[in-house]
Amino acid sequence: MPLPAAPGASQEEIRRQNLGAVLRFVHVHGPTSRAELTGRLGLNRSTIGALAADLAAAGLVTEEAEAPTVARRAGRPSLVVSPRSGRVYTYALSIEADRLRAARVGLGGRILDLREIARPPGMPVLDAVAPLAGFLRAMRDSAASGALPPIGGAVAVADTSRDAEGRIRIGATDERLGAALDEALPAGPGFVAGDMADIAALAEHVRGVAAGINDLIYLHGDLGVSAGIITGGRLVAGHRGHGGKVGHMVVNPHGLRCGCGSRGCWETEVGENALLRHAGRAPGDRAAVLEVLGSAAGGEPVARAAVRQVADWLGFGVANLVNVVNPDLVVFGGSLREVYAAGAGEVRRRLDAMALPASREHVQLRAATLGRNAALIGAAELAFEQLLADPLGAGVAG
Ligand SMILES: [Zn+2]
Repeated sequence: MPLPAAPGASQEEIRRQNLGAVLRFVHVHGPTSRAELTGRLGLNRSTIGALAADLAAAGLVTEEAEAPTVARRAGRPSLVVSPRSGRVYTYALSIEADRLRAARVGLGGRILDLREIARPPGMPVLDAVAPLAGFLRAMRDSAASGALPPIGGAVAVADTSRDAEGRIRIGATDERLGAALDEALPAGPGFVAGDMADIAALAEHVRGVAAGINDLIYLHGDLGVSAGIITGGRLVAGHRGHGGKVGHMVVNPHGLRCGCGSRGCWETEVGENALLRHAGRAPGDRAAVLEVLGSAAGGEPVARAAVRQVADWLGFGVANLVNVVNPDLVVFGGSLREVYAAGAGEVRRRLDAMALPASREHVQLRAATLGRNAALIGAAELAFEQLLADPLGAGVAG
């Protein structure tokens, strides 16, 4: 829905808001008839017609007659407004614990091109810039002739920046990452960097399991654990964007030393190394994490016990978070998706034993649905933000 216009908003501001509302609707929901847009956005028919025509003239959408097979009421067929996914796109990057991925993502959330490579263990975040920039140059060269330059760029970074001693360096490299990408791609769109959990939360909120839900916590697990927290439809970022580092919430003061320097942080109990520890495996081996999760799903007793132990601690932290944030939904992503799938009963039991009834009774727990593409889809959403806020002001040529 369009935002209610602020008192005293100029005609121009109202038009910009309405253009954004129409473009956002077809970006999120796909091709939509003018008649449906009229109903869904609460604007009148002639206004929708004028807005759609302006977006089409700017090259952002197409308008075509409804296919004759589509059932419709009698009368003139309504034009269908579709995002121009092949023409209007962003660059989306993800620096994951074990992969580097780059995509061109079209308006409407369509992945047009995707390249990836393994990230060697311990590779510093800034060393990912050169291979990612190489992917983007290759994608640019193979894009259809006539494709426009990208309208934005964003990169999702897993919270796994650790130095040689395993100490965690939150934020230190993320802040330099955008600038390093801009330097590697001087003709690029300008990059913003964000935490993997925040960006995956955005993706699940717009297109995944959390669509239509405005109060949610998305938990991303790999070596560490972090959260994307959305309240009232907005991401909680905090001062300089480092909010949501729930992996460093202390849950066990007598527990293990954490890479952040504290002791008994949640990620020492639910991160991938905790799972490996309980399963009697060496730390830091991501292939072994998948093996343990697979064996647990197959009923192997040691692996099952390891997953259950981690799931119990997962519920412990979720109960605390649910008491603080009071969300409608908690989503489990990254390797926590599999932990939750295998240990949902433990998580829920711990939640029911610890959280306040007012916070726990309505809260739904779900596995993430976008899988590995969540980071790319979410990064694209971040990069499309400016265009969706001001479709004709974002510099897309007509
Ligand atoms: Zn910590």
